[in-house]
Amino acid sequence: MENFDYIEVGAGSSGSVIANRLSENNKIKICVIEAGGSNQHPYVKMPAGFIKTINDKRFNWCFKTEGSDYVNNREILFPRGKGYGGSSSINGHLYVRGQSDDYNQWAQLGNLGWSYDDVLPYFKKSEYKENGDEATRGKQGPLYVSDIVEKHSLCEKFIIGSSELGIQVQNDYNSGQQEGIFYYQRTIKNGTRFSAYDAFLKPALKKENVNIKKYTTVLKIIFKNKKAVGLLCK
Ligand SMILES: Cc1cc2nc3c(=O)[nH]c(=O)nc-3n(C[C@H](O)[C@H](O)[C@H](O)COP(=O)(O)OP(=O)(O)OC[C@H]3O[C@@H](n4cnc5c(N)ncnc54)[C@H](O)[C@@H]3O)c2cc1C
Repeated sequence: MENFDYIEVGAGSSGSVIANRLSENNKIKICVIEAGGSNQHPYVKMPAGFIKTINDKRFNWCFKTEGSDYVNNREILFPRGKGYGGSSSINGHLYVRGQSDDYNQWAQLGNLGWSYDDVLPYFKKSEYKENGDEATRGKQGPLYVSDIVEKHSLCEKFIIGSSELGIQVQNDYNSGQQEGIFYYQRTIKNGTRFSAYDAFLKPALKKENVNIKKYTTVLKIIFKNKKAVGLLCK
């Protein structure tokens, strides 16, 4: 029997961040339980490989929606990532923060701590972005964010055309103002996907206080009164 202070279910985006943050306290022991595998596969690493993961149960739960009258009874593919990094290992690697006005509206509705100024330090803390205004972008964080370097002449012309029509060209749409036209920023480093696993879980797993159980699916959380005291896994 091993003893842990925290057991996390899922090694996806949020699970990777939480494991990383908990691991900073070397007095606590953490176990992460993940249904999938380590995802060290070319389909996950190659940016264009995610197309291959859309229907592959090794990396994807391959859920489908229920058919209904509104969609002509079709069952529509609903991808969700499986394995280290979770959906950040099969996503489109676009780095897009929320629009500042949305956070400010949440705060106005009474959600203290959720205004743009409140959340901005955490965005900055989590990322490593080479170029960018230091007022809004981070340079010390673990999540690598890069600009698109391959600029197709058609895209360039499209941007110029949009600008001539009065659409604002945004040099950095992650600086609080998203309206306009721009190239996406990606979680890609040196030509390979940089998932939440790469940014947060991988460094945490190097520490002695973090343990991971892969290919382990949690079937049930056992509660005693309102406290979770155990897990049923297979
Ligand atoms: C195809 C696709 C494209 C996307 N494109 C983008 C994009 O370009 N940019 C962007 O910002 N976002 C994108 N997203 C969304 C983004 O990736 C997700 O919102 C984010 O990764 C979700 O994080 P999460 O921690 O909530 O869940 P996940 O990252 O999905 O993690 C959940 C983890 O829990 C595990 N798990 C679930 N149930 C159990 C169980 N019972 N037992 C054990 N383990 C379990 C899963 O296997 C998984 O690893 C995309 C998502 C998909 C699927």
